[in-house]
Amino acid sequence: MMTSNVNADVVPLKRAGLRATSPRMHVLEVLRASERRHLSAEDVYRTMLELGIDAGLSTVYRVLNQLVQADILLRHSFESDHSVFELNEGGHHDHLICLECGRVEEFRDEAIEQRQKQVAARNDFVLREHMLVLYGLCPDCQRSRIGAVEAGVDAAR
Ligand SMILES: [Zn+2]
Ligand SMILES: [Zn+2]
Repeated sequence: MMTSNVNADVVPLKRAGLRATSPRMHVLEVLRASERRHLSAEDVYRTMLELGIDAGLSTVYRVLNQLVQADILLRHSFESDHSVFELNEGGHHDHLICLECGRVEEFRDEAIEQRQKQVAARNDFVLREHMLVLYGLCPDCQRSRIGAVEAGVDAAR
């Protein structure tokens, strides 16, 4: 896994004027290989440790920031003190966040996209970007919440 897509990572680094240092390459490889598209700095750091790479958490933070500045990654601050990072693959999308477990899902809805453009135009804004985040409970957490309520009812009897 650690050798695939090397060029896919080197090319955008070069384009951004960044050398392909091993911390940068490892961070990109972790994001590319991950089943989840949205990872926190701690997630990236922990995955690297599992692969036997101890770059240090502060290095991981620094590299993530460099990659965001180079437009190679996108940063989302869904909660005030918790940022997640994803590969910037060009396609715009919005997010659904589970308030219980932090699960992140992506969606794109053309009707919503068009409405936002209309709202901007109505207010004489030239639209550059937008972020839409829907907060709620994912299916798993809805199930475990119902389970907890039922257990509570049983205990009260
Ligand atoms: Zn959840
Ligand atoms: Zn996303």
